Amino acid sequence: LRFQLVRPGVYQLTDQEVNVFLLDCQGLTLIDTGHPSSGEVIVEALRELGHDPSLVSRILLTHVHPDHAGSAAFLKKRLGAEVLCHRFDAELLEEGVAVRKSFGPAPGLLNRLLYRAFIARAAMEIPKATVDRFLSEGEEVIGGIRAIHTPGHSAGHLAYLWRDTLILGDAALHVGWLRAGIATENYDQALQSIQRLCDFKFEVACFGHGPPITKNARRRFRARQWWSGPNPSGALNFHAPLSP
Ligand SMILES: [Zn+2]
Ligand SMILES: [Zn+2]
Repeated sequence: LRFQLVRPGVYQLTDQEVNVFLLDCQGLTLIDTGHPSSGEVIVEALRELGHDPSLVSRILLTHVHPDHAGSAAFLKKRLGAEVLCHRFDAELLEEGVAVRKSFGPAPGLLNRLLYRAFIARAAMEIPKATVDRFLSEGEEVIGGIRAIHTPGHSAGHLAYLWRDTLILGDAALHVGWLRAGIATENYDQALQSIQRLCDFKFEVACFGHGPPITKNARRRFRARQWWSGPNPSGALNFHAPLSP
């Protein structure tokens, strides 16, 4: 596990290529929980950072894929924390089903290859956890943390904005370069969610996968050509660059 201070009050913890965030906000707030095997590692990291793990009062989930909500059940119990997420994904977590049938590779050969190599064979089940509070679009969660509904990657996907920092989960990827997800439930909707995020004010962007962008993040999001208008079928075009 690695950790880094992204911003005063915002730590990024990375285990098995997945980022989890710790916000020093009204007690401690954890955003996402990593893989099912990451729970104990996260508790250790909290200690290493000098925090009493029992001070984590709440766990916010961006969505319930196994690499983000895998340790939700474990950490909820271990930390005595509440679990909060969008109603649409809460249904899955409570049944222990992490991935919807509509989830599949985004358009493009590269995405199909990456999907086949890294996602298709991943576990589709997670330990069940009960959700204590449903979050909806625009809601202030606590201490100025705002939930932004960003469907597409999953129907209940949420990004979180706190001060000048946007935590995107899998609404966009920053592995190699800034891009839309490798896999989605609804690709056009995922692009629309990214476009919507560009309307919010943020300086720093944190991702579920890949390093944070610590300066001018919104400008980079806006400068990125996510698509170039409607194609004949009415769908949005997306031009993925071949290199960063
Ligand atoms: Zn995901
Ligand atoms: Zn992920």
